[in-house]
Amino acid sequence: MHPLFTDVYNAILQALLPIRCVVCKQESPKALCAACLSLLSPVQAQCCAVCHTPNLAGLTHATCTHQHMLDQVLSLYDYKNVRVSELIIAGKYKFIPDAFSEVAPGLSRLVTQYTDLDNTQTLITPLPLHRYRQRWRGFNQAAILARRMATDLKVPYAEVLLRHRQTKTQKDLQKADRLTNVANCFSLATQADVHKKTVLLVDDVTTSGSTLSEAAKILKQHGTSQVIGITLARD
Ligand SMILES: [Zn+2]
Ligand SMILES: [Zn+2]
Repeated sequence: MHPLFTDVYNAILQALLPIRCVVCKQESPKALCAACLSLLSPVQAQCCAVCHTPNLAGLTHATCTHQHMLDQVLSLYDYKNVRVSELIIAGKYKFIPDAFSEVAPGLSRLVTQYTDLDNTQTLITPLPLHRYRQRWRGFNQAAILARRMATDLKVPYAEVLLRHRQTKTQKDLQKADRLTNVANCFSLATQADVHKKTVLLVDDVTTSGSTLSEAAKILKQHGTSQVIGITLARD
């Protein structure tokens, strides 16, 4: 379609179906209004991926790490803040992918603040959904975040992981069941080149870190030198 027609089409669509902020439900030029964006609560502190104790840059303690482990995890918002959970739930279950585009720049700033990346050896990848869930939702929220961050951070975006088994939502499970739920649910995509790379692994919410850890294990088994988990929120 000609860009002029696209603009006219969008203007008509907006007049007929005004956009509402996913959090406060007020009419807004964006899927998340500026006021609600400013009121999302950041996490109190970054934490070690293993012992979950606060740690300045979310680095995995030397005494906590083991083979094929995440090196660092950075989370932006506190999921217990009602605006944060509302944003994520509405974005995912009311099918509003634009809500995630609004918060991605904050994640890019978090990465810039807490990491020192060699852009030539780094790639960014989303945690994949199983293809059935992806088809049902029509988008992967982690991919929306990761694509936008790739542009901001000037690192290549690549979908290097596959989820070949459907898993239950981690939040609904007891801690002990979370590891078994995600065990061996990922594999490396054919032709994915992760050897000696730093991989930024993006997801929307982390609870125990089990899903990120499982994905990191696959990457490390294929020679990735560093895996940094990046999540929009931590529960
Ligand atoms: Zn709002
Ligand atoms: Zn630790």
